[in-house]
Amino acid sequence: MEEILKVNNISKRYEDITVFEKMNLSVKKGEVVVIVGPSGCGKSTFLRCLNALEDIQEGEIILDGKTVSADQKDIVELRERVGMVFQSYELFPHLTVLQNLMLAPVKVKKRNKKEVEKEALEFLERVGLLSKKDNYPRQLSGGQKQRVAIVRALIMHPEILLLDEITAALDPEMVKEVLDVVLSLAKEGRTMLIVTHEMQFARAVADRMIFIDEGRIVEEGSAEEFFERPKTERLRKFLQTFSYELKDA
Ligand code: ADP
Ligand code: MG
Repeated sequence: MEEILKVNNISKRYEDITVFEKMNLSVKKGEVVVIVGPSGCGKSTFLRCLNALEDIQEGEIILDGKTVSADQKDIVELRERVGMVFQSYELFPHLTVLQNLMLAPVKVKKRNKKEVEKEALEFLERVGLLSKKDNYPRQLSGGQKQRVAIVRALIMHPEILLLDEITAALDPEMVKEVLDVVLSLAKEGRTMLIVTHEMQFARAVADRMIFIDEGRIVEEGSAEEFFERPKTERLRKFLQTFSYELKDA
């Protein structure tokens, strides 16, 4: 498979803090890579560097063979080619669902309005929200807003989609409706880099798992290896924090 994203030795520092140093990652077209790790280990910062929401101090980011490191001149290109969905949806409250979806493709990409509308409606149908097209964000549940946010990223035709804990703020009964959308995107061959704490979902969706701790990739492997036969004590301990043992009465 062809490589779509390559990250070479990127480092991120704030004045006196190093968030991560010399990170490397390669993602193939159609691959789904899931990143897990303890809170504060640098997952969000890493994803934010990949779509130029943060600058990097060292290294390079190569998208589809072209170096687009996150310095000033590449920001627009990275933001357009790398889609991102966050924990909070950040839809515009004064715009309807359809208007939220059409804003960037029409204003930024100067695409034809009718054509964008047609595409937006098709996507809304796919995520089960066609009937909400004229509603405002406040009239939607959290799970519905997050599905709109996914469509808002997809309609920009990103080469890779980054998802940063997109179900972390949702009530439990809404988590599945959002993750089902992500699973269907994986099945149709979308390239995705996903940060999540939903381990069952991770296992179901991942072609490859990555464990980051203290700003370093500690372990990576297929979902099966990763969950069934973790190689490091640190990953074993981390995975244990997601399971409960029933104590004898
Ligand atoms: P994660 O998403 O894995 O929980 P983050 O990427 O949010 O972790 O944060 C990684 C580390 O970077 C944390 O120690 C955090 O305090 C630090 N950090 C994040 N943003 C900033 C910032 N703007 N200034 C200083 N430190 C930051
Ligand atoms: Mg985070």
